[in-house]
Amino acid sequence: MMKLILASNNAKKLKELKAILSDMDVEILSQREAGCNFEVDETGTTFAENAYLKAKAVFDATGEATVADDSGLMVDALNGEPGVYSARYAPGGHDASDREKYMYLLSKLKGVTDRKARFVSSICCLLPGGAEIRTEGECPGQILTEPHGEGGFGYDPVFMPDGYNDSMAVLGTELKNKISHRARALAKFKTELRKINVTDK
Ligand code: IMP
Repeated sequence: MMKLILASNNAKKLKELKAILSDMDVEILSQREAGCNFEVDETGTTFAENAYLKAKAVFDATGEATVADDSGLMVDALNGEPGVYSARYAPGGHDASDREKYMYLLSKLKGVTDRKARFVSSICCLLPGGAEIRTEGECPGQILTEPHGEGGFGYDPVFMPDGYNDSMAVLGTELKNKISHRARALAKFKTELRKINVTDK
């Protein structure tokens, strides 16, 4: 079975990745389980750059196949913000809670009628021998005027995906893991894994 390390310290992201890849013959470890007790500085200006920086740091430390997801929310009326700054988008920066972040976003959009937004996920996987897999996925939707629900993480309580009538936090994990930006990027990633002979369970 192929061993794959997720370059992230986000337990909820790890849980989603494990669920989405659960039908493939891969064993997923967190970066901590692989002995990497560090945070990678996300100095890139694009999701793809940051995904590469995270995958590279853990790959260099372990020499094992490593995958990273860099993701965020792009809001049309804010010219694509918070984008790559989604994790530190509130006066408290990285220390702000998810609630502080999405309440800050709602305050920025007070009175704004164009609520269009999309989640983006960029996946980068580095493999021993030098091969790289990069994929991207998007989930379009709208920013609600008030938070709704407790599920998921990050901005899920204020994001309503197109075609549904409630927030991602209310719609639940099973549906989220089918339609989210991460699910879509990882579906393409699975296609690439099959090409290098990683099999379905
Ligand atoms: P990253 O860990 O640097 O990729 O930060 C991504 C940030 O974007 C997270 O901290 C969340 O605020 C937001 N984000 C990414 N994916 C999701 C998601 O699936 N739901 C809600 N927020 C997300």
